[in-house]
Order: sequence, then structure tokens, then C-alpha cells
Amino acid sequence: MAKTENRPRAIEPSDDMTPFEAATYFFHGAADRLGLNEEMREVLATSYRELAVQIPLRMDDGRMVVYRGFRIQHNGARGPYKGGIRFHESADLDEVRALAALMTWKNALIDVPFGGAKGGVQCEPGILSQKELERLTRRFTGMIGYIIGVNRDIPAPDMGTNAQTMAWMMDAYGQKYGYTPGIVTGKPVELGGSPGREEATGRGVIICTREACKRLGIDWRGARVAIQGYGNVGFWAAAIAAETGAKVVAVSDVGGGTHNPDGLDLDALAIYRTDSVSVTDFPGGTSVTNEELLELECDVLIPAAIHGVIHSGNASRINAKMVVEAANGPTTPVADAMLNERSIPVLPDILANSGGVTVSYFEWVQNIQQFRWELDQVNFELKKRMTKATDQVFTRAEREGTTLRDAAFDIAVERVAHAAEIRGYV
Ligand code: NAD
Repeated sequence: MAKTENRPRAIEPSDDMTPFEAATYFFHGAADRLGLNEEMREVLATSYRELAVQIPLRMDDGRMVVYRGFRIQHNGARGPYKGGIRFHESADLDEVRALAALMTWKNALIDVPFGGAKGGVQCEPGILSQKELERLTRRFTGMIGYIIGVNRDIPAPDMGTNAQTMAWMMDAYGQKYGYTPGIVTGKPVELGGSPGREEATGRGVIICTREACKRLGIDWRGARVAIQGYGNVGFWAAAIAAETGAKVVAVSDVGGGTHNPDGLDLDALAIYRTDSVSVTDFPGGTSVTNEELLELECDVLIPAAIHGVIHSGNASRINAKMVVEAANGPTTPVADAMLNERSIPVLPDILANSGGVTVSYFEWVQNIQQFRWELDQVNFELKKRMTKATDQVFTRAEREGTTLRDAAFDIAVERVAHAAEIRGYV
């Protein structure tokens, strides 16, 4: 067979794996257990379409800077491509490719009728002005406009992007193709966004964490929760954990973390921190580094920032009863095996953070029907789907004697392979 650039290589797990190699490693494990034939593996292990674009941006001071942007559509057997847009300095072809594949598995596992995609612009959004961010977003949208569409590929926010970014994308797309609110999800509610979308990923994280706690015999009331990352996902996961009776003992952002074994005062923290003030010097806690936070003694550790933070160098010192992957790919395959050896269950990313895309699906449905749901209905449907998926993952893991991650991948890969087969892809 001819070699293709994004063909995954069969390699031994290591901390040095790229994000795509790590995602592909978990896919191949499922393909082995499911006995997928080589042709199906080839289709499911590679992307359908990869678009890399140059984005020349005129800065406020008159300079021109050329950024790189990507939109990758991994697999569309189960429906239109769906996945977020990330603005981050690490967003390169490999990372976006990995995230696109994870979206395919996530959407299949939570059973929404979407394929998987992801986009990214390699930039540092924190040092760009609002005007620069707007120009960057509009230019990028123009460049990927011809491969997205309400029934083709629907972007959403991810790291470094938010509802405002989606409003600019929708507007830029609409200027060329006509008013199309369903082109993106995660929009402001005033522009057709769904109630409950902003907090959906964090809410979903806590719904499946609580289900897992029931299964694992961990008492949620008073459970000590440590969260790395205090952006959209981390912030809402912390708020909803506290609201439902757990004790949030630590949170962090890129500048460091804050720890209080008696529980952080999240209301005071919300007032204290701003976009330019890190949580780390919060007077209501002791300052810790991001590395120290991961090793704190707690019941539930929630990495909610970036990939690869739990690796072979610290997996033996993780001091939690359970790890919940709110971020995408926070545990390397080697660390995953080490945590399994130590009997620390890991709720995998494709399950734990699927609440965001679930409510994105509800938003898309509302846009197509031009009918607004109430928040109660959104949260009810979210809970129903997250609970069902969590239950399916635990049941499969128990039945097959696998880890939760393996069970989640097995369910997802099986569903996508089946759809690909009956469509006649292979
Ligand atoms: P965000 O940009 O709102 O927040 C990211 C947080 O991580 C911030 O607190 C930031 O300071 C921190 N951070 C950045 N780099 C860091 C580093 N090197 N070390 C420690 N902390 C760091 O992003 P988000 O939307 O909250 O996404 C967080 C994670 O969740 C990402 O992995 C993303 O792919 C995943 N995710 C997000 C959504 C969503 O709906 N937003 C859905 C599914 C998965």
C-alpha cells in the first residue's frame, strides 16, 4: 500500500508520542479488540479532508503577521462534521488532526448524528487585541468557508475561542452565504445560541463524574475535587461540583494554582481572578504549581486544560481515587497504563467532555427548526444522554474486563465502523 502523510505508524506507547499518535494508539487498540479488517482501519485511522491555510493579519500597529490555520474533517460516516476551533500556540496539523479524530469517537459515543472535525489557528490569543482577534476570525472563516456548512461541517468554540468568536464566524459566513445561524454552535444566545451551552461541557463533566462515583463507591457529598485549568470547562466544572455538594480544593490556570484543603471559596475566587490576574495568588488558598496540583491528595482529579499533562514522570504520584479527563488527551498512553496498574480509574475525554458537543447538537437542532428550547429541557436532555453513555461505558468495561477508555473506544469505533460499512465506504 502507498504511504500517505497522515497514515498512523504502529509504534510503542511513549510520552514522546505526538497527540495524533496517542489518539491513533487508542484507536488501534479498539480496532484490534473489534477485529476490524485492514481496509476499515485505513479509512478510520486517517482524515477525510485536511485544509491548511495562511492567514495574513494586519496588526493594530500596522505590521503584517502571517498565521497558520487548519480545518480537518476526520470522518463523516455518522453525519456532518462537527468540532471546535482552537486558538492556541500549539495548534498545528498534528494536534488538530488528533482532536478531529477524537471528535469522531466522542460524537459516536454520546450518539449525536455527527462526524468528527476540528479547527485551529496557531496563535497566542492572549496577546492579540479584540480587533485583531476579530480580523483573524473573519479572515479564517473566509478561508475555510467553502468546506463548512450547516449540513457539512459545523464549528464551535474550543481553547482560546468563545461565544464572541462564534458570533464573528457566523457573521462572516452570513455575509457571503446568507443568514445561517446553524453554521456554528456555541453562539451567544441572542444570535441563536442555546441556553446552557456555555456551561455544558463543565456540567457534563460533573454529570458523568457523579455517575462514576456511584459505580465506584465514592461519596460525592464532600468529595475533594482538584481541577487543572480554570477556563470555560474548569470554571463551570468547579461551580457545578460545588453546587452539587463536592468540595473544590484546588484550581489553576496557566499562571499556576491555588489550593485549600477545606474547600475554595469559589464566589470570592470568581471576583478575584480576571483575564490578566491568575488564580495562583488568591488569598483564600496556598499557591501551587500546575505540576503540584496534579499530585495533590484528592478524590477526583480533573485535568481541564491541555494535553499530555499526566505522563510517565508523574503518573506514579497521582494521589486521586479517580481521574476525569475534561481536557482532550491529558493522559499519555504510558501514563494511562500506569494509572490502570495502580487501579486508578480514568473517565476518558471522549466521554467526560462530551457535554459540550451534546448541547451543540441541541443548538443545531434549534437553529434548523427555528425553535428555542428552555434551559430545563436542555439540561434534562444533556443529563439523559450523559448518564446513558456513562452507563454503557461502565457496563461494557465490566463485561469485557477492559479499562473505561478501552470500553469507550470500543463502543465508538464499533458504531462508526458499522455506519461506514452500511454506507458502503468499505
Ligand atoms: P479555555 O481557553 O477557556 O481555558 C483553558 C484553561 O487552561 C485556562 O484556565 C488556561 O489558563 C489554562 N491553561 C492553558 N495552558 C495551560 C498550561 N500550559 N498549563 C495549565 N493550564 C493551562 O479552554 P476550555 O474551552 O476550557 O478548554 C479546556 C480543555 O477542554 C481543552 O483541552 C479543550 O479541548 C477541552 N474541551 C473544551 C470544550 C468546550 O466546550 N470549551 C469541549 C470539550 C473539550
